[in-house]
Amino acid sequence: MTVSVIQALSDMHREAVEQIRAGDHNAFLVGFLTTSTMLELSSLTNTDLRLDEYADAAAQTISQYAPLDRIQLTLAPEEFSPIVARVGFHDDDATALVHVARVEIDDVGVVELATASMPDPLAEAGFLDIAADHIASGLRVMLESERRRRRAAVADTLALVASLNEQWGQGELDALAQSIATLPGAHAAHLGVGANRLAGVLTADYGHLGGEVIERSFTIDERVQADVAIAYRVEPTSEQLELLDEILTTLAANLSRIEQNIRLTSEAETDQLTGVANRRRVGKSLAAARAMSDRRNEPFAVLLFDLDHFKSVNDRLGHAVGDQVLARFAEVLQANVRPFDTVARWGGEEFMLLCPDCGVPGAIAISQRVLEQCPRRFDDVLPPEIVQTTSVGIAVYPEHGRTPESVIHAADEALYRAKREGRNRWSAAGVPARV
Ligand code: GH3
Ligand code: MG
Ligand code: MG
Repeated sequence: MTVSVIQALSDMHREAVEQIRAGDHNAFLVGFLTTSTMLELSSLTNTDLRLDEYADAAAQTISQYAPLDRIQLTLAPEEFSPIVARVGFHDDDATALVHVARVEIDDVGVVELATASMPDPLAEAGFLDIAADHIASGLRVMLESERRRRRAAVADTLALVASLNEQWGQGELDALAQSIATLPGAHAAHLGVGANRLAGVLTADYGHLGGEVIERSFTIDERVQADVAIAYRVEPTSEQLELLDEILTTLAANLSRIEQNIRLTSEAETDQLTGVANRRRVGKSLAAARAMSDRRNEPFAVLLFDLDHFKSVNDRLGHAVGDQVLARFAEVLQANVRPFDTVARWGGEEFMLLCPDCGVPGAIAISQRVLEQCPRRFDDVLPPEIVQTTSVGIAVYPEHGRTPESVIHAADEALYRAKREGRNRWSAAGVPARV
């Protein structure tokens, strides 16, 4: 159509609206107005709208094309949350919607169109019923494409989850956040995964978390911790939540499998007696911690533990009991750190904690917890007259050393100071020894 024809139609339309509003019972005008409104409503389904946008657009279209006062359109599509679009209302508007048209279609759902007042000619012509019918037909088309989109998003997300392997990192997490954010009804997602191998928590965000936010957390074998937040436009349906949980269960299963694989291949890096990392793995962990630390401008802490007077345990109770004490001490350390911290056996009765994103205060807090728990955690292994304690040396990268080696050296000096000043205490590089 040329511009002048569109202009002429639009002028005609405006005139029709005015005359009908003024009470003119002209059948031609009513027919013309109805036809142009329905044409406009039909054109909405050719666009790539979401269901809530479709409801808004349909309500807006009716308000622009017909002289109705206050329009409320309710879509209750099957399998989806109900959507209400309102035009012409002001805050706390409780005007009764006296004209109501309701259409129910199998496999589609219910459409209800209501208005506060409308000119008699339109009411007599059944304008509201015709419009509701049109919107319901449109809804059928929109639902089909929404279901298609939903199947695609779910399939995409599951494929992404299944494709994760031992090398997954930031890129994979970003893709996953985007995919989860486009699940049915959702518009934003946040993922945070902390793993020992990553030396910290990787996060990925897609969209702005607002509306109805659902949060889920899970921990895998105490080595991986994941936090997920997903934002829905409206309260998610039970089907949407089931879908989310199915995806997260699959994600947890895959991360667990990956961690197991990593652990199997890392047996050569595990201390046989205590099950914690050996010196070989510490080298890798230090490199990962340093990389994360430099990238994020965060410190990482090295804590060196040396059991006090451990030789006398061996001498008095035998080597086997000594071994039990070492294994138990490793458990105490493991229980006091986050999944992405590294617990390592550094030497005979010396252990190291490597804690990314942790400064001196955090390291002191860990040390105090371990010192406090230590003696009684050996109650079932040692006789009451032997009180097993430990000394701790703390140093932090990059504050106390520009390389991992120099930080370890500083921690070692601090440990020596803790021993010299009486044992059963911590000492941090640059801070006096304390019990
Ligand atoms: P302190 O550190 O408080 O100065 O005294 P200590 O008695 O702990 O110091 P020292 O380093 O002299 O003794 C460490 C002992 O740890 C010596 C060794 O017999 C024992 N040890 C080292 N590795 C093992 C092990 O694998 N099993 C057992 N049972 N003992 C071990
Ligand atoms: Mg020692
Ligand atoms: Mg010792």
